[in-house]
Amino acid sequence: MANQRTNRTLTTLSQFTSQTPNVHYIPPSSTDFDKLRTIYAYPEKVPLAILRPSTESSLAKTISFLSTNKIDFTLRTGGHHMHGRSTKPDTVVVDLRLLNTVTLDEDAVGSIASVGYVRWAMYGGYGAYASRFGLDPDAESDLLKGIRGAGGAFGVILDLTVRVYKLSSILVGIIVFDSSDLLGVVRKFEDGYRALSNGSNGLPAPLYLHQVILNFPTPVFGAMFMWADEDTAIGEEWIEKICALAPVMSRTVTQTTPLAWLDEQSKLVAQNTQGRMWTINLRQITDEAAGVIGEFTGDRRFLDDPHVLFNIHELRGGSPSTTRQGAGIGKDSVFNARDPHFVIEICPTVSDTAKLEGALTWGTEFCDALKATEKGDILEASYVSFLAEDEFDHANVYGEHLSFLKEVKAWLDPENVFQNAISYL
Ligand SMILES: Cc1cc2nc3c(=O)[nH]c(=O)nc-3n(C[C@H](O)[C@H](O)[C@H](O)COP(=O)(O)OP(=O)(O)OC[C@H]3O[C@@H](n4cnc5c(N)ncnc54)[C@H](O)[C@@H]3O)c2cc1C
Repeated sequence: MANQRTNRTLTTLSQFTSQTPNVHYIPPSSTDFDKLRTIYAYPEKVPLAILRPSTESSLAKTISFLSTNKIDFTLRTGGHHMHGRSTKPDTVVVDLRLLNTVTLDEDAVGSIASVGYVRWAMYGGYGAYASRFGLDPDAESDLLKGIRGAGGAFGVILDLTVRVYKLSSILVGIIVFDSSDLLGVVRKFEDGYRALSNGSNGLPAPLYLHQVILNFPTPVFGAMFMWADEDTAIGEEWIEKICALAPVMSRTVTQTTPLAWLDEQSKLVAQNTQGRMWTINLRQITDEAAGVIGEFTGDRRFLDDPHVLFNIHELRGGSPSTTRQGAGIGKDSVFNARDPHFVIEICPTVSDTAKLEGALTWGTEFCDALKATEKGDILEASYVSFLAEDEFDHANVYGEHLSFLKEVKAWLDPENVFQNAISYL
């Protein structure tokens, strides 16, 4: 029965694409199918077929055709959602990667319409420039408020206009700390970093630290140091202050351009893996939380696989996305995690399938142990892009914006055509 239905749908798709210019049809029999269906994790998610519209009008025809024929579909660009939400088994993938025009206004405020960037930006967009320039849903005031934080629940986002900041050089690189006693080094670092953050002058806006623990080949704790300002003299002073927080094993911080760093960074992470992630937002990394992190990432408990990752992103007080909310930025967004916080990213991702079950147990226990720390230090809202469907608590994620979002959904997508969007409205 299921096979007959599948064959009928494939025939319908084949007929539609043969009559519709600019939609490439990739059925499972195509030699390109495996390459094009690959996403960051979840290799077991095999879609029914892939449709690749290359123009705005062919995209509109594709969505209309699928919804009229009640054919379930997902939207896909970079395929880097941590729970593989761009692909669903036995469901059509509408692959948007051919719609990849970028136009840059040379007068510094320009527009970017790019694949990959869109989903990162519409649900959150944590990154090394957030302390200075803010999160990405706050970047432009003329985007629909609901899209900024709830993204694809209302349709396909085809085009974005974003403010571009000129930054010709940065100081960036990894500081690796002596991790022979991982628990000890994590606690020592967090203690010093808390003191620097809470000190009378706080941390300067151009400074961003992305803490990371990975196997190198045994577990090591490091911090990606970013100084997002051309004035490197003060940045150099901050390298020394961060290096003084704990004994340093190696450091690669150097002056470069944002583009060169982007290239370098993409070489550091695996292109494909297996597993998932757990997340929690903490107001601060207390000594109690540092103890849990050190215990689960130390030699005794960290997974023995090159893909396993532990990361911490940060939205600091002082970032435009926290402090300037009252002054305008963030008011037209449903992004709710506005208090300063750390985004904890536990990624039990593995290269070896045999290790997957143990990895997932490790991830659950690690996250549960952090959830059992002091309640007052845990933010109710978590980062939408990192939550799995069964963890998604709308009231916590969207807070007071939830009723507004439901109204917009009822207005724009009453039939729930975009039911597979990760905001699950
Ligand atoms: C290795 C790695 C590192 C990461 N680092 C960071 C980080 O530093 N900071 C951060 O904030 N996040 C980070 N993320 C999370 C990532 O930014 C988000 O998951 C983002 O959504 C991925 O974008 P994508 O193009 O790969 O999306 P996809 O996986 O293709 O899609 C994600 C979701 O958006 C939907 N969608 C895709 N395109 C559209 C569209 N045009 N219109 C409407 N809906 C659409 C899809 O259906 C899916 O539900 C990281 C993820 C990975 C795997």
